[in-house]
Amino acid sequence: MSCIKQDVHPENGPPGADLAVNGFDLMQPRFPAQTPAGVRNGRRVKDAAVPPQGVYLPNNNVLTPQMRSPEYVQMSNAAAITLGIMPGRMHRCGCTRCLNLLLTYPEGCRANCAYCGLARHREAERDYADRNFIRVDWPAVPTEQVVDIVARDGEKSPFHRMCISMITHPRSDADTVAVLEAWTARIDPAAIPVSILSNPTTMERADVQRLRDLGADIFTVALDAATPAIFDRTRGKGVQSPHKWQKYWEILLDARDVFGPQKFGAHIIVGMGETEYEVLSLVQQLVDLGGHSHLFCFFPEQGSLMDHLPATPRDQWRRVQLARYLIDYAGVRVERMSFDGEGRVVGYGLPQAEVEEVITQGIAFRTSGCPGKFRDDVSACDRPYGDSPPSNIASFPFQPGRRDLQKIRRQLGIRVVRG
Ligand code: SF4
Repeated sequence: MSCIKQDVHPENGPPGADLAVNGFDLMQPRFPAQTPAGVRNGRRVKDAAVPPQGVYLPNNNVLTPQMRSPEYVQMSNAAAITLGIMPGRMHRCGCTRCLNLLLTYPEGCRANCAYCGLARHREAERDYADRNFIRVDWPAVPTEQVVDIVARDGEKSPFHRMCISMITHPRSDADTVAVLEAWTARIDPAAIPVSILSNPTTMERADVQRLRDLGADIFTVALDAATPAIFDRTRGKGVQSPHKWQKYWEILLDARDVFGPQKFGAHIIVGMGETEYEVLSLVQQLVDLGGHSHLFCFFPEQGSLMDHLPATPRDQWRRVQLARYLIDYAGVRVERMSFDGEGRVVGYGLPQAEVEEVITQGIAFRTSGCPGKFRDDVSACDRPYGDSPPSNIASFPFQPGRRDLQKIRRQLGIRVVRG
């Protein structure tokens, strides 16, 4: 038998060790510096015009070759290792189940999102293909080579899903179509379904429909920010970036109509200044629309406009992870949960024994994203260590073990007394 006691025990990962939440006032991004005219728009790479030779591993000591989608795509280290084009092993997980393909251009992404390592303000510092993104390098690989390997592996492929990640670039819509067509020409999308991580700023409803018609399975919108004010200061006017909350919602609602229930969703980064109540209200809104939310724990990406700010305290993150799972998969509504005066979760809307059962299952603390082939609430997209170091895991890319769950309970402020 066990009894459960709530107490205050924030075990937060550095650098936010003494914070209970990342509040709005604290999470103010830096303003981007001016980029010298001579290096804007990928000028360095385009002037050097070095022809690419197969796989390119990010390297600041060589001239970056001129690589463009749809001929080239970038992928995470985890995906490159799983695909067998890079040596290496991931800590505590053999491979990734989702092949994320990121569009790439010498000009890079033309947006300036404050938390993102790919943002435009980094042009002077690093060429696009050398920038870090969600904590890791992204090798560039010929699209044809990727498709060849997955088609050759057939049913033995370790991938449960492929995802095309768009960026803000004038060619992004057309090249997403081209990559999708290159994939579906050789690989049955029923065997390895395709998700689109969209860039609403350059899209219209007809683009959403086209991707559906060409065989995409799930369409997601990276809202990233949980409120309009945070969106504007991290992705819009606040950092000279072109994105607008209203446009993102317009495309999200188009995706609901075109892709249908359970086939659309939104990415949300937790800990950029919203309250727990605000982010969970958004999670509820998405569920009410028929979609899902995919959560990311804010991590101060090196070189980004928020790299001076603390990572999301682990207690805040765990409460939101758990509550989001209950809303998304256990039918609990945010209105049944209780919150303190700072908007923090103090009750999950279920008897404590049922909450404990969900914690013990551990799935709530795994990486969230589009589903794979195991079960609906287990994401194919496991993004190993994309939002934390392996020493203090935020999103578990594998099933948390007994000791992981002990740590999670401590982070949640739950003390379990065996008796
Ligand atoms: S649009 Fe996406 S890739 Fe571009 S800066 Fe924003 S978050 Fe990064």
